[in-house]
Formats: sequence, structure tokens, C-alpha cells
Amino acid sequence: MERYRFTEQEKELLEHLQQPLAVYQFIDRRVVTLALSDGFCRLFGYTDREEAVRDMDHDMYRDTHPDDAGRVADAAVRFAEEDEPYDVVYRSRAKDGPGYRVIHARGEHVFTENGIRLAHVWYMDEGTYAGEDVSTDFQRSDPLNQVLTNALHEASILKSSRYDSLTGLPSMNYFFELAEAEKQAMTAAGEEAVLMYLDLNGMKYFNHRNGFAEGDRLLRAFAGVMARVFSHENCCHIGADRFAACSKKKGLEEQLRLFFQEAGKINGGNSLPVRVGIYPVTMEDVPVSMAYDRAKIACDTVRKTDASGFRYYNDRLRNEIRRRQYIQTHIDQAIAEKWIQVYYQPIVRAVSGKVCDEEALARWIDPSEGFLSPAEFIPYLEDGGMIYKLDLYVLEQVLEKIRNTRREGLSVVPHSINLSRSDFDACDMVEEIRKRVDDAGVSRDRISIEITESVIGSDADFIREQIVRFRELGFPVWMDDFGSGYSSLDVLQSIPFDLVKFDMSFMRKLDEGEKGRIILTNLMKMATSLQLDTVCEGVETEAQAHFLLEIGCSKLQGYHYCRPIPYSEILERNRLGIQIGYEDPSTSGYYSNVGQVNLYDPGMIAGDEENLLHNTFDTIPMGIIEIRGETSRVVRCNQAYRDFMGRRFGIDLSNPEQIFRPIRSVFMRNMVKACRDQGGRMYFDETLPDGFRVHSFARRIASSPLNGTTAVLAAVLSQTEPDEETSYVDIARALAADYYNIYVVDLDTERFIEYSSPVGKDVMAAERHGVRFFDAAREATAIRIYQEDRKWFVNAFTRENVLRELERFGVFTRTYRLIDTGTPTYATMKLTRMPGGNRIILGVSLTDCRERQEAKPEKEAVYPPEPEVLSPAR
Ligand code: C2E
Ligand code: MG
Ligand code: MG
Repeated sequence: MERYRFTEQEKELLEHLQQPLAVYQFIDRRVVTLALSDGFCRLFGYTDREEAVRDMDHDMYRDTHPDDAGRVADAAVRFAEEDEPYDVVYRSRAKDGPGYRVIHARGEHVFTENGIRLAHVWYMDEGTYAGEDVSTDFQRSDPLNQVLTNALHEASILKSSRYDSLTGLPSMNYFFELAEAEKQAMTAAGEEAVLMYLDLNGMKYFNHRNGFAEGDRLLRAFAGVMARVFSHENCCHIGADRFAACSKKKGLEEQLRLFFQEAGKINGGNSLPVRVGIYPVTMEDVPVSMAYDRAKIACDTVRKTDASGFRYYNDRLRNEIRRRQYIQTHIDQAIAEKWIQVYYQPIVRAVSGKVCDEEALARWIDPSEGFLSPAEFIPYLEDGGMIYKLDLYVLEQVLEKIRNTRREGLSVVPHSINLSRSDFDACDMVEEIRKRVDDAGVSRDRISIEITESVIGSDADFIREQIVRFRELGFPVWMDDFGSGYSSLDVLQSIPFDLVKFDMSFMRKLDEGEKGRIILTNLMKMATSLQLDTVCEGVETEAQAHFLLEIGCSKLQGYHYCRPIPYSEILERNRLGIQIGYEDPSTSGYYSNVGQVNLYDPGMIAGDEENLLHNTFDTIPMGIIEIRGETSRVVRCNQAYRDFMGRRFGIDLSNPEQIFRPIRSVFMRNMVKACRDQGGRMYFDETLPDGFRVHSFARRIASSPLNGTTAVLAAVLSQTEPDEETSYVDIARALAADYYNIYVVDLDTERFIEYSSPVGKDVMAAERHGVRFFDAAREATAIRIYQEDRKWFVNAFTRENVLRELERFGVFTRTYRLIDTGTPTYATMKLTRMPGGNRIILGVSLTDCRERQEAKPEKEAVYPPEPEVLSPAR
């Protein structure tokens, strides 16, 4: 039907009326607003007539008292469709206003010249509603107000047939009629209609937490948002926390985004996420009731999470539903007919490379559907509450396999089985498992229980209880897929697991770079410190396995070792002698300890034997020292550093130092000075007054030009007791003291380390790292060499010459004069190859001047130089 249009004159006349009047037309079962008078706008608090028209069209009852909305809407429809008189008293408030007023509305039908029926509705203001907000005695005692209030209460108790009394939205049956009409109208207008099913997540819990009154308020507010976004007559409250709506397909997703946003804001943000299933009529033009069923199916497949989401009903979903039904109705047969098989994947001990556990994984090989992956059938069995059948069957198969293996005389390692959350709803899973394991005569510690991290989040207390029961009975419990969810760290703290299995996503991240390695290294360290055993799953390459071994991952699982295989294949591999080989169970404890040492954790070298693995705080002494002029202070340090400083120097560092104090120790002065002035990494050796020797490391972290402060990281690498026997290092150091400088150069990279022992100060050896050795040496040395020797040195000291001479004579030796001390000093350089790797060592020693003058001149070096290049005589 066409929308009726008033002439400009008629419209103006109507709009300027001071009495509250509205003119409506009923088109396609919907109320369309044609005109609103000034009186109407004033009564309902609108300053903008356009806005009032929009609200009347889309959300007519937004300001009507929720208890009256359904009744008023019902009366309006009877008035429009059945021509019953429209005469209602209800509570309404001015747009967004605070209190309710009592409104008396009366309607009559009028016909235009060309026979179109319009509705004139007159509104009368009967005064402030005193029922809820009884502010004055007068209002309470006013007889008229009393009568109205009573009448309103009675009226709102009457259940309306077409509108829901809680939300005022159309009720289900009436909505189906409305939606059918809307669909036809849209189709006629060339639009595509959709039907939506909406479900609030966690309403039950919300009511439980906040009470039913608060729950009702939430549902009303939610209905209000729906009415605003989709239009009042396009929405429906089905009951409880479920709603339906119809809309246009075009622009729907934008509309939904807006809707999710608005729905999230209601109730001061204490709202609930919504799941929406959408059925587009373009799929197949079915009756609204069927479209509704399909939208509901789509809604049920949206995962219940903390975020709102939607899903369309489409062919893929239709197939999924068929699959789901097939799986849920065939599980018993699949078990009985052995379509379900158990595959085993070995878990390998990182240090020994031997199989230390096996994980049982279910496979469904269906005669008509083919191979079904667990990722597909497990969620359906979980949803259907029948996963316990599968899991107990898998356990029985595992127990049988263990018995068979024993009979074959093969080693039996522990087997792990996977459990799901809904296992625990179906039966007393702990007891069911215990009974079966005990009956089979298998030791309980041979069956480990894998529980995925995501299971725990939903109902932590209950799951924790079950885990504790398992462990008290002697079943090891593993946390599966650690790191795949959000609750990981929290769960590790609150639930006692025996082992953590790192999700395979860590392996993918490992290959992506440094960050992944850092994270895994530290998580591994954390797990070990918490006395948890560790497995990484999804290990696919040698490089990954190698890294995991280094960081102390105890066990590895993945295609790199073996895919999950059936028992028959295990026996076959055994027969062929290509099996990985089982660990002797008596060595498990030893390997477990060896494997857990994290080689990237310096803490591993500190601490006594008993605590070696478990004390995460035993680490090397490390501190950050700030230096300003001749003063310093320790700004941060670890416990080990505190202990060290207290023990060795009697300095108390229990609190970070606020003030700078004069540097007194020579060692400290040398160290911080070297760091401040040179930067880079440096190593120092110092003998303390009590004979105690300390080998330490320092590195400049930052300098502030503003106040001249430098921050240095200092770490004590080793401490040697004075009465310890002379070590090889001491001997080497004593001999090395003869040298002014020693360089060790890697010929492949030309990186070098310079060790220097300043003349007369053999107590300390500093170490400096550098690059581009030959260039750096020529540049630095050339300016320190006596003028006459300089040219030949620069020409001779090239990589090619040095290597050529080393090749021929095994050593490269030169003597030249230095001008460091003002008077020329003779220096002898000796360079030779080091054993192992492509490295050379070069020592520079000083020779006394007088002694040297009596010696032979340079051109008569022990090994004759290549004449054309090296002769300094030229
Ligand atoms: P899950 O327990 O984390 O099992 C590890 C999954 O990773 C297995 O997939 C395994 O085949 C696969 N996998 C192992 N090594 C590698 C590798 O190197 N690379 C890659 N890409 N994948 C690897 P599957 O067998 O498909 O099982 C999937 C999930 O289904 C399991 O994850 C487990 O949560 C569940 N599941 C399997 N069998 C059962 C069962 O009997 N009961 C229950 N409740 N859940 C099961
Ligand atoms: Mg698992
Ligand atoms: Mg896993």
C-alpha cells in the first residue's frame, strides 16, 4: 500500500495544533507516522519533529513504561486490524525524561477522499505518575491519581497476546506474522530479507550474580537497543535470553556492528555478549518459522566467548549439521564396529632421544564418510555430551595395548590420554578411569591424564578438584596445549600439574625469530622452577629439537620423530628394527634432571646441587652501578649480588642505594673507569686483599650527558678461593703478563679480542672486543710506530702477507719501534695459529731499548721476509 501524503496546507494545519495529536497509517502491518502536532511534541519532550517521527516509526514504545508497552502495542494492533476502539491509559515519560506521567490516548479512524484509512490519536496528560516515585503526599492522596494508578496496575497484569509483557516487543507468534509481511514487502521492493536469532551469553550466571530484577532490567534494555536498531515491530522476545529480529541483508553487518556496540554499553557496561544466527531468504524462500529454526542452528554454532559474534546459515553449515548429526548418532556403532581406532604418538626424551611416553589419539575411519579428523568429531561429541564414551573406549584400548606389549616382552612406557570438559559432566570420570586401570592390573602412574588449558578457564574450581583427585590416586596430570589460551599463567599457579605441554604454536613462533625464542626460553625456565616437567609438541625440525634441548625442555613430540601410528605399525617397526627405541624406565629420573638444565639460564651455574634445578633465584651476582665522577652507587641488583657484596666487602645492599659514595676500591675504580671511557664489553680479573680472586664482566649500558652519570652492568662470573691450587689459567696468565697486548683473531669474521695488562699492573687484565682486525691494527698501530718503521709496517701487515708467511713458516714475527713512551721502545710482535678453528693469536712484547740496540737490525729477522714487499730498507 502507498503511503498517504498530505498537502502542504493540511500538514501545516495539523502540525500547528496545540493539542497533542498524531496521525498514523497502517501499511504492511506496520505503523507509519504521517503527522505529529506541536502539542504532541511538547507532551513527549521533542524539540525536533523529524526525530519524533523517526522514533514513532521505529521505536514507538521507547519511553512507555515497560510494564505497559506490551498492552498498549496490543491495543494499537487490535485498533488497526480489527477496528476495535483505541482507548488506553498508560505511563510514558518525556523523551529521556526522569519521571513517568499518566497518558490517556484515544484513537479513531478517518478516511481520506480516496478511501485511505488513517488513524487520529489524541493524547491527554493525566498528571504525574505517583506509583513508583511518590514524591508528595498530595499525589498519594489525590483520588484521581489513585484510581489511575490502580487501573494501570490491573491493566498491566493482563497478559497481552501479541506483545511480550516484559520487554514490550512483539511476542513470538505475532512476530512471525509481522516478519512474514515484512519479508513480502521487502521482496516486492527488490530487497533481500534476513531472519536473525539472538542469544545472550551467560544470562543464567548474570541472574545468579545480580538477581532476577537486575536480569529483567538487562533484558528490557537489550530489547530497547534492538528496537532502536532494527525497529520495534521487527523484533521479538522469544523468552528468557533469546530474541529474534528481521532486517534487510543490505547493510546488515554494519547494522550488527552498531548493535553490538550499543548492546555492550547498556546497564553501565555490565552487559552480556550476544550470539546471532542469520538466515538469508535468498538461501531458500522458506516460511518464517523454518527460517527461524535455521537462524537458531547458525546461532548455536557461534562459539560462546566474551565477544559478540554472528554466523550465517549457509551450505557449509548445512553440511556441518548433517555431519554433526551423523557423528552424534553413530558414535556407539563406531565404537562397536571399531571404526574408531587409537593411534599412538611417541614422546621422546630430549637428552636420550628415546621414547619415554606415548600419547593416545583417536581416529575415526568411517566406512561411508571416510577419514574423520579428531578436530572434526571431537567437538561434536563434546557438544552432544557423548565424548566420555570415546574417552573411556580409548582408555580401554590403551590398557589392552599395555597388556599386549608386556606379553610381547617390550618395554612399557607411560601412556597419556586426552580428556574433555564434558567428560566430567557425564559421569564420575576419575572413578571410571581408576576402576578400569586397577582392573587391568596396570600401575596408575602408567596412565597420564592430558587436560587442555582451555577446559580449565570455564569452571576452574571444579576442574581443579578433579585434577587433585587424579593426582591423589597416583595418576600424573598434564596440562595440554599450554599457551593456546588466555589463562595459562594463572592456571599454572592455581592448579597442581605434573607436566606442562607447550602448544605447537610455540614451534611456529620459534621459527619466526628472536622474540619467540626469548618467550619460550623464559617460559621453560618458569615451568622448571615450578617443578613441572615439560613437553613441546609439534616439533617438526632438527633445529627446533636442538634448541629445545638447549633450553632444557624435557620431552619432545612431533612429526620430526614420528606421526601418530596404530599399534600394528608400532609392532611392524619393531620387527623391522626401525623403531625409535624405548627408554629404560629406571633411568627416567636421571634423564629428567639432566634434561631440565636450561643452558640459557645463568642461574644454572650457581646454587648448590640440591637446588640446582628448582631455585629460580639462584643466579650469578649482577648489579647496575651508576658512576658520577669519583663516586658510585648500586641502583639495582639481584640477591646473589647483595650476598656477594655483603660477604666480600661488608657492604649492605638490602635497599637500593640513594646516595653516591666515593669509589674506594682500586678494582672498582679501574673497572668503572674503563667502562665509562671505552664502552663495550669488558672482562676483569682482580685479586682481593684476602687473596680471593674474582673474574667479572662489565658493560656500559647508558650515559647521561646531562649530569655526567654512566650506568654500568656488572656481573661476577667466578670467584676463586685463595687456597685453591694454581690453575692452568693462572699459569697462562703469568706467562701472558710478559706481553704488552695479546690479540685473538677469528680469521673468518676478523673479529678480535684484545687482552691488555698495563705495565706494572699484572693484577688486572682487561679485555676488549673489536672487528676488522687487520684494518684496525694498521690504523691504530701506525700512529704509535716510530716514523721510520711506519711505512713498511703498514705495507707488511695485511691479511694476505700474514697468511702467506704463516703458511710458509708457521709463524709471523716482526720487531719495530714504538713511540708510546716518548723515547723509542722496541716491540716484538709474534703471530701464530691457534689450535681448533680458523683463529690466530698475536702477542706484542716490549724489549728494553739498550738491549735492543745491541740486537740485529729488523731486516735480519729470523725468517727472511718476502723481499719485494717487506724490506724496510727500500
Ligand atoms: P592434542 O592432544 O594437542 O594432540 C596433538 C595433536 O597434534 C594431534 O592431532 C597430533 O596428531 C598433532 N601433531 C603431533 N605432532 C605434530 C606435528 O609435528 N605437527 C603438527 N602439525 N601436528 C602434530 P590430532 O590427533 O588431530 O588431535 C587433535 C586434538 O584432538 C588433540 O590435540 C586432542 O585435543 C583431541 N583429541 C585427540 N584424541 C582425543 C581423544 O581420544 N579424546 C579427547 N577428548 N580428545 C582427543
Ligand atoms: Mg593431547
Ligand atoms: Mg596438545
